[in-house]
Amino acid sequence: MAERPLEGRVTLVTGGSRGIGAAISQQLAAAGAKVGVNYTANREAADAVVAAITAAGGEAVAIHGDVSDPEAAGAMVDATEEAFGDDLWNLVANAGITRDNLISRITPEDWDRVIDVNLGGTFHVARAASRKMLRKKRGSIVTMSSVVGLHGNLGQTNYAASKGGVIALTKALAKEVGSRGIRVNCVAPGYISTELTDVLNDEIRGILLAQTPLGRLGEPEDIANTVRFLLSDDAAFVTGAILSVDGGLGM
Ligand code: NAP
Repeated sequence: MAERPLEGRVTLVTGGSRGIGAAISQQLAAAGAKVGVNYTANREAADAVVAAITAAGGEAVAIHGDVSDPEAAGAMVDATEEAFGDDLWNLVANAGITRDNLISRITPEDWDRVIDVNLGGTFHVARAASRKMLRKKRGSIVTMSSVVGLHGNLGQTNYAASKGGVIALTKALAKEVGSRGIRVNCVAPGYISTELTDVLNDEIRGILLAQTPLGRLGEPEDIANTVRFLLSDDAAFVTGAILSVDGGLGM
């Protein structure tokens, strides 16, 4: 792989300010991409990622916006292009949330919010980004599902449905835009050490580790490495793929 396979390519990473998204933002910038680091609530975290990228000699800018809002999704694509004075090349639709509970206790509001952010948000940013990419007849999109979207998990009916939807959306969009030179792929992480999984207690953590052949939780960098590959020209013949990065948990 080239040392800087994404040189100069304007890239928006939704939820790029924390956890997996922060690692993706930093990896892509190290690979030469100009990165829009999206956040919605925590400006300080986004600024810290931008500062780290800049200190390492890369280019990044913080981009505010809630992916579940169609207008905001369009605006964050525009703002990324304006910040770098160039057309969008890549999108990583990473932003996601959980509102876990047993089905009898999941409120309609918790159902709606998880679907709106995880599935609706992926749709809104992919729609806005693909409009730009279609004009240029090039581009690459990576969506973020989960081992839970492939195999389900108790206490996560809303999250599983949203992440299963992301997989279906990825395949449908890959078929729709492939002839125009745009690739769309999906990463399905297993359990990765971030604030999202910090809430797991030791018992659950032990069960997960016992079920993971590689015997550890993943690190955000494990996902970032895969995203970098999928966006790069090394993956030029890869589209519609659902790539599990889960230490073997989903086998
Ligand atoms: P995280 O640490 O909780 O970070 C979530 C990121 O998404 C933050 O940057 C947050 O920004 C942003 N975000 C949340 N709601 C948003 C919205 N409505 N609009 C725009 N940005 C929003 O999560 P993570 O663990 O890194 O997870 C990242 C992705 O990987 C998610 O899609 C998640 O479902 C998926 N995933 C994670 C794991 C895991 O084990 N961690 C496993 C499988 C899949 P603010 O700080 O501004 O809110």
